[in-house]
Amino acid sequence: MQFQDVIGQHTIKQRLIQSFAEDRIPHAQLLVGPPGNGKLALALAFAQYINCPNKQNDDSCGVCSSCRKYAKLIHPDLHFTIPVIKTGSIDKPTSSDYMSKWRPYYLENPYPQYEKWMQLIADENKQGAIYVDEARDLIRKLNQKSYEAEYKVSIVWLPELMNITCANKILKILEEPPEKTIFILVSEAENKLLSTIRSRCQFIRVPKIADEDMQQALFDLPDTGSVNYGTIARLARGNYFLALEMIRNDEVRKFNFNQFALMMRNGYGRKLTEILSWSEEIATIGRVRQMGFLKYCGEFLRENFIFNLKEPELVYMDDHENEFSVKFSPFINERNVISLFRDFEQAYTDVSMNGNAKLIFTDLGFKVSKLIRL
Ligand SMILES: [Zn+2]
Repeated sequence: MQFQDVIGQHTIKQRLIQSFAEDRIPHAQLLVGPPGNGKLALALAFAQYINCPNKQNDDSCGVCSSCRKYAKLIHPDLHFTIPVIKTGSIDKPTSSDYMSKWRPYYLENPYPQYEKWMQLIADENKQGAIYVDEARDLIRKLNQKSYEAEYKVSIVWLPELMNITCANKILKILEEPPEKTIFILVSEAENKLLSTIRSRCQFIRVPKIADEDMQQALFDLPDTGSVNYGTIARLARGNYFLALEMIRNDEVRKFNFNQFALMMRNGYGRKLTEILSWSEEIATIGRVRQMGFLKYCGEFLRENFIFNLKEPELVYMDDHENEFSVKFSPFINERNVISLFRDFEQAYTDVSMNGNAKLIFTDLGFKVSKLIRL
């Protein structure tokens, strides 16, 4: 990862490069900021930079042996600590046990998301953690002399997930690491970090990605067709991971929006025949998509209720939705909003429990036609 591959964040890049130029690299830094803003990518780009023998003023060379190993995350002096889980076969898990999964995941997703990582390594809804065995493993590795790099770098992704025993065990080496060893902790929840950890690190706050940088990054993506970059950049609120998800889901969002609009028009016009045939249509799209649609409806109703408050910064809508909501939002009010939420939630539960979709959507369509005129 080079700095040029990290979206925006010019000030932070400058600050990191400056610390190297002035020979003032802190032995422990804590990059803190919201998800999807490129903190981890910055940590890696910095580690690659300080170890590159051919570095330029503003970036690593990207082609030397060190850079190439960094690009594949296989440099022997780069140590990753990541949240992992216990399984039947691994009862004392460390990051090393998960490197064969982490490397391809990270290389595909340089803006990783904790939930996705968990889905990849756990079958169910498990919580990841950094366990005490990790500390032992890390202390042992960092106390060996470096293989080839000038700096050994230990990157800890989501240190807030360290359990207390692990955190306590790591304090000493964090405070006084071996020579030419640096820690970069990358956190999304500084209030969940132990104060003993926090106090040993130099803080760098990494803000969300600026809208114009995000827009440029999305524009540079191949094959995104008719995507409205401006809208997505605005809706993603500085989270690149979310922006990519939205691009992937753009078609689904359009479908959900169109169905919602149709449902509301049929309801308002009390078009009973249309409500029936619409229910038959929706009944054919399959349970997962039906659940996605109902979830979308709940969120969109919420947005329309908020729309009435005339506080645009609270509203997450694309241009089509926005245009629709100018006329539609006055129909969502204190008299019907709670009942509407409840009916959509009930429909969601019924669909998720494999109820008869045609009946569920017909019933919902009729309820909407009553409530929407209140
Ligand atoms: Zn290089």
